[in-house]
Amino acid sequence: MNAARLTLLGSQHDELVNYLEAHPEGNERAAIVLFRRLHISVDGLPDSDRYIAQDVIPFDEAWINSSSPTHFDFKLAPLREIFRRCEEEKLVFGFIHNHPEGPDEFSIKDDENEITLLRAISNRNGKDITFVAMLWANNVWKARVRAAAMPENTVPVRHTLVTTDPLKIYGYKESSEDHSETHKRGAAAFGQPFVDMLQSLRVGVVGTGGTGSPFATLGARAGISELVLIDDDDLALSNLNRVRGLKRGDVGDKKARKLKDFIDDIGVSVKVGVCESKIDSDPNALDALASCDVVVGCTDDFIGRDVMNIALYAYAQLYIDLGLGGRVMDDKTGQPGLRYHFGRISTILPESGECLFCQGVIHEKWIQTQLLKRENPNITKEELKERYLEDGGEEAPGVGPFTSATADFALATLFDLIKPYRRYPPVLRKDMIQVDFVNMEFRSRQTKSDNECPYCRHRKFLLMKETYRLKRPVLGKRDEYV
Ligand SMILES: [Zn+2]
Ligand SMILES: [Zn+2]
Repeated sequence: MNAARLTLLGSQHDELVNYLEAHPEGNERAAIVLFRRLHISVDGLPDSDRYIAQDVIPFDEAWINSSSPTHFDFKLAPLREIFRRCEEEKLVFGFIHNHPEGPDEFSIKDDENEITLLRAISNRNGKDITFVAMLWANNVWKARVRAAAMPENTVPVRHTLVTTDPLKIYGYKESSEDHSETHKRGAAAFGQPFVDMLQSLRVGVVGTGGTGSPFATLGARAGISELVLIDDDDLALSNLNRVRGLKRGDVGDKKARKLKDFIDDIGVSVKVGVCESKIDSDPNALDALASCDVVVGCTDDFIGRDVMNIALYAYAQLYIDLGLGGRVMDDKTGQPGLRYHFGRISTILPESGECLFCQGVIHEKWIQTQLLKRENPNITKEELKERYLEDGGEEAPGVGPFTSATADFALATLFDLIKPYRRYPPVLRKDMIQVDFVNMEFRSRQTKSDNECPYCRHRKFLLMKETYRLKRPVLGKRDEYV
């Protein structure tokens, strides 16, 4: 069994902690969390299942035999209804409890309880199931996973991630000696836990050009332990003015593959997986994306952004989207000049930040236009107009210092989400900053505050139940319960 990663929404974490700590006599309490298990293998990366919390169920008084500050004893029979739900909805049973007086280690009694529960569930639901145990003690989560095939065996999770701003990351592994020299400066600036937390993350980078390649190379150097590079584009000669790690000899080859080769050669501890396809049409690419804790959108593709903008809710991810905008106009001498130019960093969490539609980054019309152009590359502006469609987005000249600077700011934004260091002035929104390269200032667009938005207001896609991936038949069905 692999070292899994657990993900809780901020609201789930708060609900659990508030409940566990609220016993009037300070007794232990327990809850059940039902997890969705994403069991996805990505070539080049160690297997690491993601367990995404779907539902929090505090123990009913009637289910409890007795409790004290140092013990918790419960009945099995009332839980059978929940075992049934696990089978029907393909969810993993998680047993959560606290030690109000410590220690922050699982006890021998916890072992017994977990094995009893696991056996009872597996008697009903079969031998292929897994089981999660989480312990809240001394203000940290400890967590481990068991499999029905070997109930006595426990595998500690790689981390428990709470998708809030800042991120909360528990149970990460402390660095081994041989990495500490490379990350000495990062540790000096932000502390060793920062480096270790960064190292526990799997980060997907979609688009490996002007913004994706600098983000990925610097992110690898900073200590991200696993990268997934997703891009189906070939390197063009005209990309060489701004990409990192790609050479003239790579022109005509897949950017993502060549970037992986470069990053592998840097000789830092990162592992890199590659998908040379599109997340909107290749199920493997979408699965690789879903396996990530953090997704960084480095594409100018509206269709791809639309997918990431749903995925962040469906798969409980931090999504950082990068883009550039600007306008070039001829000056008095007839030479082109930059009239305005900015880099944008959007930071969206499942329960905070406006979605890309509300931020004005993507628009249904632009997505439709792009889809139509894929089918019919020669379609004219007039034909688009007849269909009430239009090209959209920003013109961006694609010049190295600006694309690179935007990527650097995005990585620094990820740092700030792990170890907050920024002091945002009131005029800036944390979910969207623009770096204006011409007027030399930071700014944010006005919030749209669309009370009807299905993404960031109604959260219709949050922890969405999938039959087809993201409910898109073209992406096929995923059997995540393996
Ligand atoms: Zn215990
Ligand atoms: Zn929205």
